[in-house]
Amino acid sequence: MKKEPAKRQSLKNSSKKSAKPWEFKYRKKILELRRVCNIAFDKDLIDTHSGNISMGIDKDLLITKTGRSLVNLKQQDFTVVPITRPKKGDKKYNDCSDNGASSEIDIHRFILKSFPNSTVLHSHPLDAVVLSLHTGYGFIKPPDIKTPRISTSSFNKIEKLYKEYPGLSEITPLDFESAYFFPKIYVFPLNLINDIKTKNLMADFEAREIFKENGVFMIKSHGSFAWGKTPLDALRWTMMLEASAKIILKYLSF
Ligand SMILES: [Zn+2]
Repeated sequence: MKKEPAKRQSLKNSSKKSAKPWEFKYRKKILELRRVCNIAFDKDLIDTHSGNISMGIDKDLLITKTGRSLVNLKQQDFTVVPITRPKKGDKKYNDCSDNGASSEIDIHRFILKSFPNSTVLHSHPLDAVVLSLHTGYGFIKPPDIKTPRISTSSFNKIEKLYKEYPGLSEITPLDFESAYFFPKIYVFPLNLINDIKTKNLMADFEAREIFKENGVFMIKSHGSFAWGKTPLDALRWTMMLEASAKIILKYLSF
């Protein structure tokens, strides 16, 4: 009779031993991310094993591991790495692909550098992906929104980016709500994304040049990256992008 509590205690200890300190520290954050990813799955924004999500927490980057399903996320589906990639020679440098983090980690870092302590959600919204392949709707006049969320200096930098990356294009929302928040949603070609990953951008460009606060952009024929102050915000912008894409596609089918 006396051995039973001891046995229980040792199991408790061994589970504590195997858990990493951040798993307790970020338990609530993981629950928030899990909730948002489950909604994204229910809304067809991701399939069982696509997408990734991260949260910048001061100097930590909490991010899903590569190949993990975002459905019912658990602590073991995440890893924590430095928000800034350590340089070779740094004692925190890990050559083993960032502790198994998502292969899109460099895009997450690129966004979080401009928007610290935010959430980044990468998903594959179907209609937005279709629209990223479409170039024939530029003749439709978008709503006249007089509250641009992009500064003039950002416009200049984006102009330069267009010169270096002719494959860069944009989705112009036709519905008032989306256009209010995002007058343009940029569609990045693959070579621009690869250059972000290898830190080899052909123009001086940071994520903050796209939008001042929250935001979303597309990768052509692939999916979206949305960022927000909270996980729910990142989901909100993804859903807004998809809703806007649906409206444009329906409009084009008349
Ligand atoms: Zn993807």
